Amino acid sequence: MKIMKFGGTSVGRPERMHQVKELITADDDKKIVVLSALSGTTNALVGIGEALAEGKKELAKQKIDALNEHYNNFYLELLTSKAGRAKAAQIIKEHFEFLTIILKISFNEAINKDILAQGELLSTKLFYTLLQELEIPAVFLPALEFMSIDENDEPELSKIRQRLEAILTRYPEDSIFITQGYICKNHRNEVDNLKRGGSDYTASLIGAATSASVVEIWTDIDGMHNNDPRIVEQTRAIAHLSFDEAAELAYFGAKILHPASIWPAQLHNVPVKLLNTMEPDAPGTTITGGGDGTVGVKAIAGKDGITALKIKSSRMLLAYGFLRKVFEIFEKYRTAIDMITTSEVAISLTMDDVSHLKEITAELQKLGKVEVDHHLSIICIVGNNIMEEKGVLNKIMDSLEQIPLRMVSYGGSRHNVSLLIDGKQKERVLQSLNQRLFDFE
Ligand code: ADP
Ligand code: ASP
Ligand code: MG
Repeated sequence: MKIMKFGGTSVGRPERMHQVKELITADDDKKIVVLSALSGTTNALVGIGEALAEGKKELAKQKIDALNEHYNNFYLELLTSKAGRAKAAQIIKEHFEFLTIILKISFNEAINKDILAQGELLSTKLFYTLLQELEIPAVFLPALEFMSIDENDEPELSKIRQRLEAILTRYPEDSIFITQGYICKNHRNEVDNLKRGGSDYTASLIGAATSASVVEIWTDIDGMHNNDPRIVEQTRAIAHLSFDEAAELAYFGAKILHPASIWPAQLHNVPVKLLNTMEPDAPGTTITGGGDGTVGVKAIAGKDGITALKIKSSRMLLAYGFLRKVFEIFEKYRTAIDMITTSEVAISLTMDDVSHLKEITAELQKLGKVEVDHHLSIICIVGNNIMEEKGVLNKIMDSLEQIPLRMVSYGGSRHNVSLLIDGKQKERVLQSLNQRLFDFE
């Protein structure tokens, strides 16, 4: 079994969907095809949800109508047969009727999740209709029948495996299965999702659940680049990454992968490939268990919206148990700490989820004086045994001349150096690190 996931731009135009059809029929391998919503759709659905949350029903209606119009044009270009077009028109009608009904009922978070799910439901149904029109045999696998998260929003991998196995055994002869990325059921059996960009996570979870031979993430760029191509002009694709390297880059802001999308594949040792739908013959990036034997800096990523806390206490001097007390507070509010540095009298740490910042700060104040800084960015420099590259820290520091560093984390792992800077400096730092750490002709 292989998993092929196609992102928003890969299905965002009718001709791209035809290209996806070419890619999934290029061989006879058994495959589960995971599709995102058409590009722009999830953003539009977020906008509809926001308008409804603010009670702006007229605005929500305008947004629904505009999106409906987009789909009415899309299917006419996608399909040519009368039957195919009739089917697509019916699918679109049903989903937009659903959105229109939502306008009339009182809005809540569960309904918002239902709204957000419409994008992947529409893209997969329209793509499936295309396959039917072309008489390509395929099975439609509703993700809501097997993808689930628990009360902590964590995917239930073993249940997903059991359900998928049971479904797949019903189709021993079929080789193409179509399913939705991103959407799932939660522990209340409501429709939910794996957060923005979550289709990558779906693909990796399905890869792990089916012990697939490979998870292919098809997108609009030829693999993981050494730096953010949206910010830095000269970047290049990286041929090979270890799971650890890829996980760090994804977690620290490389948008090409959902932050949590590596662990399921890593846990079951399923290779992940990043490939370009627009350039299918490009080698892309292969992510596997072992390193590629190279030493040194491979890539840089930046993550925005970071908050730092500094807890200062003279009681920390020579005291043990202080860190435990701090960590217990974060544990109580289920908030992850990303970076951490300590001195004899203070501890600095960062978080990106600030939903419990108030409570956390109030409890930390019992331990010492607390300072809070917002709008920071973490810059993460990743590579195999990065410390063995001669002078790497010098180069990093050199390129940060004039830029105040709020924290540095070096030595936490052998593959990573992280810097905390003012968010406004992120672009400049990514650009100057690129110049200093990589050779471009
Ligand atoms: P999809 O819709 O296929 O999931 P995404 O937009 O989520 O695609 O991810 C692909 C985009 O990620 C690229 O177009 C690129 O702009 C952005 N990106 C950010 N950092 C990197 C990186 N280090 N390497 C490659 N792409 C990156
Ligand atoms: N459609 C969802 C999003 O835009 C999931 C995905 O594309 O991965 O976030
Ligand atoms: Mg994505």
